[in-house]
Amino acid sequence: MEIFHLSAECYPVAKVGGLADVVGALPKYLNQSGQYAKVVVPAYNNKFFQENEYDIVHQGQLKLGYFLFSYSIAKEKTNKLGFELYQIAIPELFDRPNVYSYEDDTERFLSFQIAFLNWLVETNQYPDILHCHDHHTGLIPFMVQHCFNYQHLRNTPTLLTIHNGQYQGWFGYDKLHYLPQFDLSKIGYLEWNGTINPLASAIKCAWKVTTVSPSYLDEISNHANGLENLLRWERPKSLGILNGIDTEVWNTKTDPLIAKNYTLKDFKKGKAENKAFLCSHFNLNPDKPLFTFIGRLVGEKGADLLPQICSVALHQHQGEINILILGSGDPNVEKELSGLQNFYHGNYNAYIGYNEKLAHILYAGADFLLMPSRVEPCGLNQMYALRYGTIPIVRRTGGLRDTVIDMGDGGFGICHNETSVFDVTHSISRAIVLFQDAKKFDAMRKTVQQIDHSWDKVATQYIEVYQSLKN
Ligand code: ADP
Repeated sequence: MEIFHLSAECYPVAKVGGLADVVGALPKYLNQSGQYAKVVVPAYNNKFFQENEYDIVHQGQLKLGYFLFSYSIAKEKTNKLGFELYQIAIPELFDRPNVYSYEDDTERFLSFQIAFLNWLVETNQYPDILHCHDHHTGLIPFMVQHCFNYQHLRNTPTLLTIHNGQYQGWFGYDKLHYLPQFDLSKIGYLEWNGTINPLASAIKCAWKVTTVSPSYLDEISNHANGLENLLRWERPKSLGILNGIDTEVWNTKTDPLIAKNYTLKDFKKGKAENKAFLCSHFNLNPDKPLFTFIGRLVGEKGADLLPQICSVALHQHQGEINILILGSGDPNVEKELSGLQNFYHGNYNAYIGYNEKLAHILYAGADFLLMPSRVEPCGLNQMYALRYGTIPIVRRTGGLRDTVIDMGDGGFGICHNETSVFDVTHSISRAIVLFQDAKKFDAMRKTVQQIDHSWDKVATQYIEVYQSLKN
């Protein structure tokens, strides 16, 4: 089957979070299973686009209301990512370094989607499946169904995967004329709560909807930033499929980003060397347990509580623990986390920013990973931590609930019910007791590295979904 994956992110082309990891891996594994999966993302002006070679395979124009933009389709020459990568260049809108957070994001992603569909129409392509990821590509299912220009794609099955239902891409009716002409009697398929809502539209129009974990599908029927009723209504066509991780990228034996590679046989030594690297770099004590947090510093991740969690834990266990934070996001949280360095020298440090290499070393060198998330549709960090022998401490929510079982229940991690300072610091205390029992701690670290969250298994589930849509 020929499957197009449409997304704003794709690792290593452009990454902000987990969406990139999924879109950079799933198509590769689909191809290894005999499918023909391709990826289409915008051509941002970033390192990957500058440093790789492309063929221009098509050029055209698109209309966005009264604006006319030229676009070109650039295909990466080597297919080195394990799939054909196409980047759509619309210089006025995407010739910038970042993926999101520009005032004209609506215009940017709408143009991206229109350019993609124009390309298919202008070159007479009839793919088997259009797989859309999140709201940035959420208007495609509507457009192929109801826009006159794309009539020949009307029977092409569309699939929406919701990676994060909090962000929906709303815009006002003043921008309705941006959409290519469509059957106006279908306007209701664009609308939710008085605005045009691309995610809601995709939930309504896509032939099938998946979420990135089964628990998240249950949760968004009750908490989905206003889309609860819609999701409940569309539940019969919805399915939760737990994400996998790219075990070729996330491999302790070969990972070129970590300080020391290791295998199951010598993981104690390997992890100790990665930890020693971190401790010398960030002025921490390698004999004490090292807790880390890696991620976006936003409310969803519970990051607003991190400064307090750190100070309470560091105060309770004076000199007995290390905490090292890697993240960026809310400027107030960033400031507070940086400020803590002045009070807990030698036991605490924070790197504010995005750093892929440091993230890898942290998964390898930390003892425990904190994930006090309020919302976690799947969460990849805990799966990377498990694979690298780091024990996750998670709030029972979404994909965290599906992937981590508390050690008190015969499992291999530490779970708590609430995103609260008390619950997290209590879990840290439990972790310290575990750390002190070296035999138990090592056995657990060994167990978690063997848990299989590879994409091979997961790709099969997606193929079954695609096949059900083709029949
Ligand atoms: P989300 O997509 O909600 O941010 P996920 O757990 O699905 O969360 O994926 C987060 C991904 O982004 C992981 O690969 C994680 O290692 C990475 N990541 C997040 N913040 C940073 C950062 N500051 N530096 C490096 N990697 C980061």
